[in-house]
Order: sequence, then structure tokens, then C-alpha cells
Amino acid sequence: MGYLQSVKESLLKNSSLADEIFFQAVFEVLDSLEPILQSDRIYEELAILERLVVPDREFKFKITWFDDNNKVNVNNGYRVQFNNALGPYKGGLRFHPSVNSSILKFLGFEQIFKNSLTGLMMGGAKGGSDFNPKGKSNSEVMKFCKAYMTELHKHIGPRVDIPAGDIGVGAREIGFLFGEYKKITSRYEGIITGKPYMFGGSLLRPEATGYGVVYFTDELLKLENKEPLKDKICCVSGSGNVAIYTIEKLQSFGAIVVSCSDSRGTIYDSRGLDVVLLKELKFNKRASLEEYINTHTSAIYTKVEDYPSGAHEVWSIPCYGAFPCATQNELNINDATNLIDNGCQIVVEGANMPSSPEAIELFLKQKITFAPAKAANAGGVAVSNFEMSQNAALQRWDMDKVDESLRTTMKQICKRVYLTSKDYGVDGNYVDGANIAAFKRVAEAMIAEGI
Ligand code: NDP
Repeated sequence: MGYLQSVKESLLKNSSLADEIFFQAVFEVLDSLEPILQSDRIYEELAILERLVVPDREFKFKITWFDDNNKVNVNNGYRVQFNNALGPYKGGLRFHPSVNSSILKFLGFEQIFKNSLTGLMMGGAKGGSDFNPKGKSNSEVMKFCKAYMTELHKHIGPRVDIPAGDIGVGAREIGFLFGEYKKITSRYEGIITGKPYMFGGSLLRPEATGYGVVYFTDELLKLENKEPLKDKICCVSGSGNVAIYTIEKLQSFGAIVVSCSDSRGTIYDSRGLDVVLLKELKFNKRASLEEYINTHTSAIYTKVEDYPSGAHEVWSIPCYGAFPCATQNELNINDATNLIDNGCQIVVEGANMPSSPEAIELFLKQKITFAPAKAANAGGVAVSNFEMSQNAALQRWDMDKVDESLRTTMKQICKRVYLTSKDYGVDGNYVDGANIAAFKRVAEAMIAEGI
């Protein structure tokens, strides 16, 4: 049995079936690594894969908090510190009812490779809770965040582990988390990124993931000699932080973004989405996208229950570029088929692992340009790293410096992935290119640091 196969089998033997989504992420990476594993036996000799697929440590804890009716609520809290070969553990917090240990292990594992691709000094981690911020009052969200930090603060630190936001964790939640850390420890230090600007956040951190997705796309289209985004029809799923800033930057490149979605439905606006209204609805009012048609009466809203069978409405709309920016496994084989049949030329992942393995296989087979999340959405964590630098020096960077550094980082990631796919004989396969380039850097650090 080959090295790869034996690592997969031992992982399956020692983990539970509930780890399905974690296996999906791990196997996608492992399946890319054959060419590099064959080039040097040292990876097998030093058990690099076996060491990479198991987190350094996982914390699971109980969070108790009072709601507005003085009822005691109990949630599960987690932090998975996966690998710190390249720098302190780094990765977001997700508050969503679907959160469990498998989802966080998948996200933490992905984060190791994403952070490696940035070329910066960051290891991989992820955390969160099954708490649902939706429908909670401000005071309930605050009480929950503070209770969560009561435990989390024991495990983090500016040179140890630096969380950030993710689904359900935006500037409001990060402010409460940071405030509690300071109260418990009396220390002002950069233990979390994505902070509001007034107390240490970086300019452009909210925009960074979405803007980075578009900088990456622009560079990849250039490298592939494909037509640029100007005047091209694009579709984006989601309407949260990543989606909205992807839409905003696509528009600034001259693209016409006609569709986006939320967990309840999809908007189609053939004249191009009104991003100011989207921000008002989703960031300020936390409302449903359905309200978009109150202002733009010619736009069409389709509810989830009316989607085409086995597919998502947003991917049935003809477009040049598709940008899944909502959540994992939201673009399936039927969606991939629809996109290809409708002439889509490029798919760039803004969310983490939004495309199913079957959808990715089809894109690659049909030679659709496909940019995987760990490369394309690394802009957020890159600017988080810039925030850490600013905090450590108690200084601020201006907008131009952050934007220029973000753009340069995304270009470098894109080139690294593009060239690696050529160097390892998988030309145009950026899934393999990203996995190999990211693995190489982490593995080299693990080898240099010894057992
Ligand atoms: P947000 O919570 O801000 O937004 C998530 C959006 O996705 C919401 O609009 C939500 O709808 C929508 N959504 C959730 N589930 C579905 C679904 N099944 N179908 C359609 N829409 C859905 O999260 P972020 O924008 O921060 O994160 C989105 C993705 O990007 C995640 O995969 C995250 O891990 C990844 N990511 C985020 C980074 C960041 O900097 N924030 C960095 C790198 C990756 P509703 O409004 O109804 O809840």
C-alpha cells in the first residue's frame, strides 16, 4: 500500500463517521500531493502527513449565559489549534447552529494551507460555537461573547493563537470578545483581529477577503490570457461580509454583478446589484434579501423552496464568472453543470470549500478556470496579519499601504499557485497547485524544526 493510502486508511480507522466533512477537506489535499511525495522520501520518513492531519490540540468547553428573560442557556464552544509550524495559530471563529468539531477541524486544516500560501508567519486554527446570533438582542450577543471569552482567553495570546471573525462573527462580536479579554487580563494586546478601527483594527480588514478574491481573479485572468472582468456578467452567492465586498470590488473592476443570495433566497437584478442597499439590508438591518425588491421593483426574488430541484438558483443564471461566497458545499454537481452549460468561464471560491468534490472534478475536466478557496480567499487572513503587525508596533498603516500590500499578496499567491501547477505537471489545476505550494512550505518548516 502506498504512503498516501496508508495515511488515509489510518485516519478513517481512528476517527468517527461524524468527521465526514473533515475527511472531505483532508482527502482533497492529500489527493493533490502525490507528485511532491514521489519527489522526496523525506515526507514519509518523517511522517509529515500523519503529523499534519491531526490537530496539535482541541479545546471543547461549555458556555453558559443569561438571555433577556433571565433564562440560563448552554452552548458548546470550541478552539482547534491545528499546526503552528509557520507561526502562531491563526484562524477565525464561527458562531452558527451547524458548528461542531468536524466542521472546525475541516476549517482549521484548510487554514494551515491558506496561511502558508500567503507567505506570512501564521499557523492554522479555527474555533467557534453552535450559538446562533440570528434573532438575538445586542445584549444577548454581548453576554454570550463574554461568556465564550471567559474560557477562550486561557488558550490564546498574541504569540500563541490569534482568532478572527467568520460566519456569525463580525465587528460587533469581535468588539465584545476583545473587551472581555481586556477585562479579564488587564492587557491591551492584539489577541484577535477584525477589531473595529477605533481600538486597533486595520483599515480594509472588513473588505479584505472580498477585495482579495477579486485581485486574485484579475491576476489569474491575466496569467491565462483570458478576457478581463470589465463588462462581464458575474454571480455571487451569499450576502455577508465576503460576498458584499466581492460584489463591491467586482463592480469597481467594471463587472456587472446580477445576482447574490442568502439562506432564504436569491436576488436577480439584471441591471447590476445595488451594493449600497445590500449593505444597508445585511449589515445595518440584518434583514432578509427579499426586502431588496421593495426598492428595486424590477429585480426578481426567488425563495429557497422554489429553487430548481437539486440545484441553487444563483448558479442557474448565465454568467462569465461565478463566485461562491456563502458556505461549504453550496455548489453541487447540478450547479456546476448549469454554470458550464450557460458559458461560465471562471469559478473563484470566496467561501471555504463551497464547491463539492464532484463539482470541482467537472470544472477541471471541462477546463473551466477554477480557483480554490485556500488561495483565492486568503486576503482576509493576510490583512489580519497586517493588523497583528500594526498592533505589535502600536502603529497604523494608511489605506494605500494596506490595499497595496493586499493586492501584492494576492498577486503573489496567484503566481505561486499558477507556477506550482506547471512545475509539478498539473498545468491549470490550481487545486493541486495550491495544495502542493502550501504543503511544501509547511512541510519544510516541520522538517527544519525537528520532531
Ligand atoms: P457572513 O456570516 O458574513 O455571511 C454568510 C452569508 O452566507 C450570509 O449572507 C448567509 O445568509 C449566507 N448563507 C449561509 N448559508 C447559506 C446557504 N446555505 N445558502 C445561501 N446563503 C447562505 O460570513 P462571511 O461572509 O464572513 O463568510 C462566508 C464564507 O467565507 C464562509 O465560508 C467563511 O468561512 C469564508 N471566509 C470568511 C472570511 C472572512 O474574512 N469573513 C475569510 C475567509 C473565508 P443569511 O444572511 O441568511 O444568514
